Amino acid sequence: MTKKNPQEIFTKPILEWWHKSGRKDLPWQKEKSLYKTWVSEIMLQQTQVKTVIPYFLKFLSDFPSISGLANAKESEVMSHWSGLGYYSRARNLHKAATIIKKEYGGKFPQNFDQIVALPGIGPSTAGAILSLNKIEPRPIMDGNVKRVIARHFYVEGDLSKGDSKNRIWKLTESCIPDSEFDVFTQAIMDLGATVCLPRKYKCEQCPVNQSCIAKRKNMVESLPQKKARKRKKKTEYNFMVIRSGEDFLLERRDSNGIWPGLWSFPTLEINEKVRPWINSYIGVSNSYELSYMDPFIHSLSHIDIKINPIIVDVNDYKTDTISKDMIFIKRQKIKSLGISKAVKKIIDEL
Ligand code: SF4
Repeated sequence: MTKKNPQEIFTKPILEWWHKSGRKDLPWQKEKSLYKTWVSEIMLQQTQVKTVIPYFLKFLSDFPSISGLANAKESEVMSHWSGLGYYSRARNLHKAATIIKKEYGGKFPQNFDQIVALPGIGPSTAGAILSLNKIEPRPIMDGNVKRVIARHFYVEGDLSKGDSKNRIWKLTESCIPDSEFDVFTQAIMDLGATVCLPRKYKCEQCPVNQSCIAKRKNMVESLPQKKARKRKKKTEYNFMVIRSGEDFLLERRDSNGIWPGLWSFPTLEINEKVRPWINSYIGVSNSYELSYMDPFIHSLSHIDIKINPIIVDVNDYKTDTISKDMIFIKRQKIKSLGISKAVKKIIDEL
């Protein structure tokens, strides 16, 4: 049996499909630049396109250039990430911008090794930046691409390790065309995002359904193989929601642990006593009222946190700034700070 050429059976039909049905009006595709591709690729890690679009537009409008991003305070950058999760992405974006400004005069580097050396950029993201901007053909390995390749060429096993990882990289490389590699990169991402979906896959609309091995073997659902999930840790905190009218007390978390560097309600371990803590912050002479919101679970990638919001209504407070990392702030201004989804949820509900 003659071995089929991946460019013939896979690349060509996918390129043709993209010209007819691919996504062409995403905000980062307009007046494309390395900077826009970089920001969008970072935002799209772990986050869906429809969620990313408004964040991307605001980010680009407030930081239209790499130098502008480098000159911003980290806290300003973090505030643009509020609610998007995985906050280390924002911190690395800012760090990388300062490096690009210092070492490359604010111009995004075009060399793979220089790009991959920047904080928060791995080989797949560096490949996407170079390929999508038609600088160099490089494979990208986001979840959508892996799914399409694993199913079409039938790659079993954990795609993040060993032989399966090598195989999927090699197969993807073998499919990249010499010209139109920018289109191919976009096309395969689009196919994974719109047709070869994790569960509601639409094989009847797929341009490579004739040659897809998973489809022929009726094994689409089982690929890519799920990674063995580590058991998530669980923890529980009391959130001290101290308010006086429309002013709320927020504390900046330190740079380690959960929500590093974000503003949050002061957080108590579950075994810490609430009233002595309040007295130490508010003063025993001040009266206050306590009430309780329903607890909720806030899930992060590695931990489930049960949050018990305790509302402490105080009549008055002496100073806006208790310390540089603990301030009273008006409700309308809170969203201009970098806050976690859990804080936003409580503010929205109050
Ligand atoms: S035929 Fe189905 S499983 Fe195969 S690549 Fe297309 S959508 Fe995915």
